[in-house]
Formats: sequence, C-alpha cells, structure tokens
Amino acid sequence: MSEPVVTRFAPSPTGFLHIGGARTALFNWLYARAKGGTMLLRIEDTDRERSTQAAIDAILDGLSWLGIEWDGETIYQFARAERHREVAEELLAAGRAYRCYASPEELAEMRESARREGRAKLYDGRWRDRDPAEAPAGIKPVIRLKAPLDGETAIEDLVQGRVTWQNRDLDDLVLLRSDGTPTYMLAVVVDDHDMRVTHVIRGDDHLTNAARQTHIYDAMGWSVPAFAHIPLIHGPDGAKLSKRHGALGVDAYRAMGYLPAALRNYLVRLGWSHGDQEIFSTEEMIAAFDVSRIGRSAARFDFAKLESLNGHY
Ligand code: GLU
Repeated sequence: MSEPVVTRFAPSPTGFLHIGGARTALFNWLYARAKGGTMLLRIEDTDRERSTQAAIDAILDGLSWLGIEWDGETIYQFARAERHREVAEELLAAGRAYRCYASPEELAEMRESARREGRAKLYDGRWRDRDPAEAPAGIKPVIRLKAPLDGETAIEDLVQGRVTWQNRDLDDLVLLRSDGTPTYMLAVVVDDHDMRVTHVIRGDDHLTNAARQTHIYDAMGWSVPAFAHIPLIHGPDGAKLSKRHGALGVDAYRAMGYLPAALRNYLVRLGWSHGDQEIFSTEEMIAAFDVSRIGRSAARFDFAKLESLNGHY
C-alpha cells in the first residue's frame, strides 16, 4: 500500500495573506482532499525579526474565510528549533557538515570574486576539510552542509518535469547560523520529513531551493518528497503581480465585498484548467483537481474575470 498523501501550506508570517499564497494553500488542500490525505498548516516563523502575530492572524483568518481547512493543530516552526539543531549536530558528527569560520569580510570577498568570474557558487568551501583546531579566536562559526562537488542534482517535478542543476553551481548551505538558529533550508527539510509530508506544492520561486534541499535529505538518508512547483501569478501585462496591478491581499478582496466562494473559484482556475468549466462547487473542485494539469507558464490575474465570477455567487 502506498503511504497516505500529506501536503502542507507553509507560509512565513511576514505580511498579509497574498492571493498567490492563498492559491498555493488551495492547491495543497485540493490535492490532499482529492487523494483522501491530509493537509498541514505550518507557520514558518523562524525569522523572529520579520514574523508578526498580526500576519499569523491574517493567514489563519484568510484561510478560514476561504473555506480552506487544514488538518490537526497549526504547527509553529520556531517551536521546533531544538529538533533542527539536533539534526545539524547529527550531520556534523557524521562528517556531512562542518563548522565554517569565514569572517563577513572573507564572505564579501568570495561573493565579489564569484561575481567577477561569473560563478554561481558564492562560497569557495575553504572550511570544508580544514582542521577545526585552526579556528580563529573570537569568531562564532556557522554550520554548513557538505554539498556534492561534482555531477548534477535532479528533481522530477510534477509541474516542471525533470529539472537539473550542475553541482558545481550549488553552494554548501548554511544549516545553523552563528547564533545557533536554524536556517529556513534546514527547518523546512526536517519538518517535512518529520511530518511525513509526501507532496511539497509551492511557488516556483522555490525551485532551486528544492535542489539544495535534496542535498540535506540525501545527507540524512531520508527519502525526498514529490515536488510540484507552481508558476507565480503575473498581472494582465505579463509582469510579476505587484501592487500596481491592484490588491494583493485576500483581506483586501474581502473588504471589497468579494465572496469567498468566488475568489476561491477564481484562484483554482488560475494556472489550472478543467476543460471549459468555469464554476465549480467544492465537491467538483476536489473531484476534478489534478496537480499534473497545472500549467508551466505563469498565470495572468484577470480582475474583470474575477468580477464577473463574483456575480455568479
Ligand atoms: N515559508 C516559505 C515561504 O513562505 C515557503 C516554504 C515552502 O513552502 O517550502 O516562502
């Protein structure tokens, strides 16, 4: 028997619930419901400076208003920092990670020479195999993953198809910062693994992160989830959706009097199609939804269409 489907919506609570985020949540919810699985909500609040309670409230409120129901308790990533550190220590002990003592000045120099020489890799690996006894006094190290140096990294993405990267272009990721806090890269992999997430459905701005994240999975000997990276939403002019195109937050549409069912119906059709059908009941949406039919090109937000759809409800 194959394992039960588990999806998750994992927003960083740094602002309002963006309609792009709402669409990501919707796709995760529909996929889980269509497969008889579960959808988790994980608030990625590890960035303590930028995370706010107001943003958390906006996300929870926006999802509930849209009728997107997650399963189980809301998970707060920051509360799991100890577990993230434990995994970093495990990688260190296994020789799959190392302490890096490069100073901010050295890092700036490395970045500058990478830029000059047109190299994608910013860090030159200088502490990879160095004896920690040589560590300079007074510098708190970061912990970096030993990423593979040669060959390529490939992911089979359910939306994008097979995507490959040359390992010479991918850096040794920072897992723990010098103050001991885990990075997003580490936290997301540990959480997805521990929560038995089978399908990671998120914006395609995370595509290269997926390649980097597979290095952590591999180093831990964990299986990699299926990925579906969905194209971002663009404005009617084809440029990435921004404020000048109109409202971006779910709360703004709510305030303008749009109905949740209309916005949900509009968002589900953005980048995903099911023949000519425009209007879906919740049951129809769940029955028809298929992640492999999400288009590879950016969807264009069409305000007039949303307006006309709102008239149907
Ligand atoms: N927290 C990340 C974000 O809001 C998403 C992480 C993910 O889906 O893997 O961009």
